[in-house]
Amino acid sequence: MVVRGGLPEGARYIHQVPATPLVPVSLDGGPVIWCKLEFMNPSGSTKDRIARHILEKGWRSGRLQEGSTVVEASSGSTSIAFALACSQMGLRFVAFIPESATSERECIIKAYGGEVRRVSGTMVEVLKVAAAFAEEEGHFLGRQFANEDNTEAHRIFTGPEILSQIPGGCVDAVVSGVGTGGTLRGLFEAFQSSGCKVRAYAAIPREGVLFGSNLECCSLRFSSDVPGVAEDISEIYSGWKCSELSELEIEDTSCLKLTRKLWAKGFPVGPSSGLNFEAAVRVARELGEGSRVVTVFPDRMERYFSHKVFDGYRA
Ligand code: PMP
Repeated sequence: MVVRGGLPEGARYIHQVPATPLVPVSLDGGPVIWCKLEFMNPSGSTKDRIARHILEKGWRSGRLQEGSTVVEASSGSTSIAFALACSQMGLRFVAFIPESATSERECIIKAYGGEVRRVSGTMVEVLKVAAAFAEEEGHFLGRQFANEDNTEAHRIFTGPEILSQIPGGCVDAVVSGVGTGGTLRGLFEAFQSSGCKVRAYAAIPREGVLFGSNLECCSLRFSSDVPGVAEDISEIYSGWKCSELSELEIEDTSCLKLTRKLWAKGFPVGPSSGLNFEAAVRVARELGEGSRVVTVFPDRMERYFSHKVFDGYRA
C-alpha cells in the first residue's frame, strides 16, 4: 500500500489518509473505465493531494511553522483543500477567489477556518492580487499553477496508488480535464516511469459554458475563451512537452448527461467527472477491448448546487 507523506516531529498531526478507491465503471454496456474516486478525499476533492504535499514540503524546508500564513488564488477546490490542511496544521489560510465564485465554495472555505477575499476581474487578476499580498506580507504562496510539487503529489502518491490497485499493474491511457495539468502530467509520469506504454488525453469541454470560471477544472477552454486571460495560464501544462499527449474535445451537453448518470449509479460527483468519463469512454472505444483506461472523479456534487448541472432539480 502507498502511504501518503507525513509531517516531521514538531508539526501538528494530520491523520493518515487512506487510498481512494479505484473502481471499474461501465455505463449502458459501454467499455469499462477505471475511475479513481478522488471526491472521497477528506475535503472532497483531489486537491487535498497537492495542498498537503505543498504544505508538508514547506514545513520540512522550514518555510512554514505553526502560525504561518498560507495564501492561494483559487476558484474553488484548491482553496477548500488548503483551508482544511492549514487548519489541521495550525496555519492561517487566506483564499483569494474571483467575484464570480459560488457561495457554496466560500462557505466551505470558511467552515474549515479559512479567510476569503473576493477579487473582481479575471482569474489572472486574482492571481496577481494574491501574489502581491503574499509578497508584501512575507506569506507562503501555494502557486498551484507553477508549483512542481503539484505534479509531484500525483506522481508519487496518486499514480503509484493506482498502479497498486489496477489489475496487471499497468495503465494504457490516462484521461483528465486540465486545470493546472498537475493531475494528468503527474499520473502520466508515474505510469510511464514504472514501464507502462501509456498515452495521456486532456479532456477539453468544447463550449466551456458548463464550467464557467472554474479554472481549476478546465483552464484550457477558459483561457482561450475569455479575452484578457493569458493563454496557457498553467506553466505545468504549457511547459509539458510530450509526444504521447493528445487533446480531446467533449460537448458540454455530454458532460451534463454523463454527470447525472453517474449520480444515479452512486457517484456523487461534480460536472468535470462527466467530462472525464465521457472522454475516457471515447478513448477506450478507440483503443479497443481490454484496454486499461484510467480517469479521475475529481470532486463532489455538493459544491455545485447553484450550478447549471442542478438546473431543474431545485425547489
Ligand atoms: N478539480 C476539478 C473540479 C477538476 O475537474 C480537475 C480536472 N479534471 C481538477 C481539479 C484537476 O485538475 P489539475 O490537476 O489539472 O489542476
